[in-house]
Amino acid sequence: MSRVVYVNGEFLPEKEAKISIFDRGFLFADGVYEVSTILDGKLVENQAHLDRLGRSMKELDMAPPCSMQEIEEAQQELLKRNPTQEGGLYLQVTRGAADRDFLYPDPSTKSSLVMFTQARPVIEAPSAKRGLSVIFQPDIRWQRRDIKTVALLAASMAKEAARAAGADDAWMIEDGKVTEGTSNNAYIITKDDVIVTRALSNKILHGITRKAVLALAKEEGLRVEERDFTPQEAKEAKEAFLTSASTFVTAVVKIDGQELGDGKPGPLTTRLREIYIDFARKSLS
Ligand code: PMP
Repeated sequence: MSRVVYVNGEFLPEKEAKISIFDRGFLFADGVYEVSTILDGKLVENQAHLDRLGRSMKELDMAPPCSMQEIEEAQQELLKRNPTQEGGLYLQVTRGAADRDFLYPDPSTKSSLVMFTQARPVIEAPSAKRGLSVIFQPDIRWQRRDIKTVALLAASMAKEAARAAGADDAWMIEDGKVTEGTSNNAYIITKDDVIVTRALSNKILHGITRKAVLALAKEEGLRVEERDFTPQEAKEAKEAFLTSASTFVTAVVKIDGQELGDGKPGPLTTRLREIYIDFARKSLS
């Protein structure tokens, strides 16, 4: 069965959906995106994703394609046309189509908005039960990682390097410290049960899941430190995990070839995943 996708105000079979070759998303990676997870047929933390989309567009002086309310209505209509119990709703805004020029086109140029759904297991994701292995890769991305742009080639390269090394993913290193995962925020839990993750700055994406998980951890009375950590600290950690809208809280059980503990998802990570899933269910819209 073919999906119905959304392109600039229209709902179309995916084979009929088209974007101009002059679209600046295609020519300059001049676009931003969000992925909201679908759980129980609804969207998780969607308002937070729309808020971050608004911020990304603002940081790039990109005109919104329509109002946020219209975007949300289109998301809901897309979900209706593609009933999905678990998966993701991908949404992308680009600066639109204009003759190729580095300078931004005339402000009258209409931004493009596309959306599609992807079905996949979320709660019973195989990676969550098993835990993931990560390797380290140099962070070669640009310096505005707080803006969620579609310029994801460096992340793809790091993920390919992980696959070539027989690992699931890569954590990226800059100036001797872990920045984040290729498509997730990175955490370690120290021997003293302190959850450590890098502080917010332009060096990492300000994860929607990160914000919720840190708040929930604090509510649980767990200790949280937002600071840089080294690859060596990571390899010596009691537990490690990553967060993203797509994976929620997922254990990391092997880092750079070194198994953490018994090589299985640890108790604190497992608890945090459960707590976040409860929270995600309450946030559905
Ligand atoms: N960092 C990067 C580089 C990402 O691509 C993602 C996924 N969007 C995250 C962190 C996690 O952010 P969120 O929890 O909002 O999905």
